[in-house]
Amino acid sequence: MTDVRVDHGVTAGTFSLDGETFEVENNIWVVGNDDECLVIDAPHSVPDIEAVIGGRRVLAIVCTHAHDDHVRVAPELAEDVDAPILLHPDDAEVWALTHPGIEPDGPLMDGKRIVVGDIALEVLHTPGHSPGSVCLYSPDLGVVFTGDTLFEGGPGATGRSFSDHDTIVASIQQRLFTLPPETTVHTGHGSSTTIRAELDRPSEDA
Ligand SMILES: [Zn+2]
Repeated sequence: MTDVRVDHGVTAGTFSLDGETFEVENNIWVVGNDDECLVIDAPHSVPDIEAVIGGRRVLAIVCTHAHDDHVRVAPELAEDVDAPILLHPDDAEVWALTHPGIEPDGPLMDGKRIVVGDIALEVLHTPGHSPGSVCLYSPDLGVVFTGDTLFEGGPGATGRSFSDHDTIVASIQQRLFTLPPETTVHTGHGSSTTIRAELDRPSEDA
């Protein structure tokens, strides 16, 4: 039994949707212990992700949503580390834009608990940025991994296909702003924050 670790990396590539392509940097989050881990999202580069894994057994690749900058190398990584890809079924249509003919290995349903080492991550279905966006919350760590649902500075983007602004605001208010304020927020892009810092931020919807 070893202590829980959260390891982090950054990898660069592109995000494409609605016929446009953007350069983006994505966070790589790996949570577990010295022996086993969960990989949260599979952006851009298998070697960059495997550098963060560091040879540990991967129990699952947990996708916060199916935008191509978060799942681009998921099938290749899954084969390389022999782990299943988990995705909320409401993002099946978005997933198919990047990986037609390939299915994720399992569904990330709201309330599901994924155990790694001595801790569990709870799936919070937080639609809005995409229909099947989820956050992964660990009460034990006091951490929530929010993908592109909540960033330092506010909600994720909702200007493109499959997104809805009112839905993401409701998800954040009902599922994230109800977590303990001291909870650390590890995001899909950019800096980490806390629930308290985002609660205290003046909101355009206030
Ligand atoms: Zn996204």
